[in-house]
Amino acid sequence: MADDTEFDLFVIGAGSGGVRAARLAAQQGAKVAVVETGKLGGTCVNVGCIPKKLYSYAAHYAEAFEEAHGFGWPVQAPAFDWERLKANRAIEISRLNEVYEAVLVGARVTMLRGRARLISGHEVDVDGQRFRARHLLVATGGHPVTLEVPGGELAVSSDAMFDLPRFPARLVVIGGGYIACEMASIFRGLGAQVTQLVRGDRLLRGFDDEVAGFLAVEMGKKGVDIRLGTRLQRLDRDGGRLLATLHDGHRLEADVVLCATGRRANTRGLGLDDAGVALGDRGEILVDEDYRTSAPSVFAVGDVTDRVQLTPVALAEAMVVVDRLFGTGERRLDYDFIPSAVFTHPNLATVGWTEAEARERFGAVRTFVSQFRSLKHTLSGSTERTLLKLVVADASDRVVGLHMVGAEAGEMVQGFAVAMRAGATKAVFDSTIGIHPTAAEEFVTMREPVVQKQPIHR
Ligand code: NDP
Repeated sequence: MADDTEFDLFVIGAGSGGVRAARLAAQQGAKVAVVETGKLGGTCVNVGCIPKKLYSYAAHYAEAFEEAHGFGWPVQAPAFDWERLKANRAIEISRLNEVYEAVLVGARVTMLRGRARLISGHEVDVDGQRFRARHLLVATGGHPVTLEVPGGELAVSSDAMFDLPRFPARLVVIGGGYIACEMASIFRGLGAQVTQLVRGDRLLRGFDDEVAGFLAVEMGKKGVDIRLGTRLQRLDRDGGRLLATLHDGHRLEADVVLCATGRRANTRGLGLDDAGVALGDRGEILVDEDYRTSAPSVFAVGDVTDRVQLTPVALAEAMVVVDRLFGTGERRLDYDFIPSAVFTHPNLATVGWTEAEARERFGAVRTFVSQFRSLKHTLSGSTERTLLKLVVADASDRVVGLHMVGAEAGEMVQGFAVAMRAGATKAVFDSTIGIHPTAAEEFVTMREPVVQKQPIHR
C-alpha cells in the first residue's frame, strides 16, 4: 500500500480483542494500525481481570494466616499494607502494558495514540489526521454504568477501586453481579466491613440458583453483609463519610460506595452513524456471526458488542475476524460451553447450562450435588464448604452443566470444560478415575442423582 496512512486493517481499541486481532492480522502479512486513547491492554489488564485477581490473592492471605494455626504455625496476621499492594500492582500492570506494546511493535503493527472517529466505512480520523483502510475493526470495550439516584455521582466504579487513596474501612457495594460479588469478597478479605445491596432476591442472576444461593451463604459466613431486595435511594456526603439511604429509610455509613450495576458499550463519539454502523438498544454494535456490522467493511468484537463480556471470548472473536479477512474464513465461534469463574471467596466457576436452563432445553435432566468441608478445613478451623453440581441430560446422558463453589474452582472447571465440549457423558465421568485426595475427584464419583421433589396435587 502507498503510505503510512493506508492500511489493510485499522483497529480501534488496544484491549484484549483489538491487540489480538492486530497482531494476528500483521502476522498474516496484513498492514495493520491500532489506535488507543488509554493504556494498552484495555479493561482486563488495567482495571479488570488482572488487578482483580492480584487483589483476590492478597485477600486470600488473610484467611491463610488464620488457617495456619491449625497446621502448627501460630502466626499473628501482620498489618495489611494497602499502599504496598497498590504500588506493586501498578508496577506489574505497567510491565504488562509494555509487553502489549512490544507484542505489537514486534508484529510490525503501527501504534497510534489518540481518539478515533469513523468518517466512513473506510476512513478514520485520529485527532485531525486521516487514515484509510480496507477493513476497520472496532474493539473499544465498555464502561461501567453510573447510579441514577440523587448523589449517585458520589459512588465510584470498579475502575477506581484498585487505586483508592485510602483503604475503605466501610464499603457499600451496589449490585449482585460478577463485579459486585468479587469486589465485596476481596475488600472483605482485605479487612473492610462490607455491605452488599442487591435489588433482586438472589446474587448472580443467570447462574444456577442453587449454586448462587450456596455462594451467598459462604460469602455471608466470611462476613459480607448481603442484603437482598434492597435498593439505594440516595447518597449524601457528610464530612469525610458517605450516607447511603435505603428504600426502607434505613441509613448506612460508608467510606466508599461502589456502583457495580453493569457495563455499557463504548460507542459514543466514534462516528459510527457516519459509517453506517447500526447500534442496538443498549448502544452496542450489532454484528452478524462473522462480527461484520451493518457497514460491510466494519467489524466489531468484544464488549462493544455487549454479547458475552469475557476476555477469552473477545480473543476468540478477534481470531475469527482475522481468519475471515486474511485466512481461510472457516472459523466460527460456538458460544455453548463457555466456562467462566467469579473470583469471590470462595471462588465460583461454571460451564454449560444451569439446571433450570437445561430442563427447558433438554427436557428431563438428572442432577448430582455434593457438598462437603474440604480436607484442608478439617485442620484449618475454617467452616467454608464446597459445592459441586452436575446437570445431566437424560436422553443423551451428556453432562450439560457443571458448577462449583470452592477453592480454585476456575482451575478445575477449565479442564472439565474440555471434556464437556467433547461431549462427555455421565458414563464417561463415572468411568474416570479420581485423583485422591482432591475436591475435584467428587466430580467423577457422584453416583446418586438428587431426587426431585414432586409437586403435590390435591
Ligand atoms: P452484571 O451484569 O454481571 O451485574 C449487574 C448487577 O447490577 C446485577 O446484579 C443487576 O441486578 C444489578 N443492577 C443493574 N441495574 C441496577 C440498578 N439500577 N440498581 C441496582 N442494581 C442494579 O454486571 P457487572 O458490572 O458485575 O459486570 C459486567 C460484566 O463484566 C459481566 O457481565 C461479566 O461478563 C464481566 N465480568 C466478568 C468477570 C469474570 O469473568 N470473573 C469479572 C467481572 C466482570 P439484576 O440481576 O436484578 O439485574
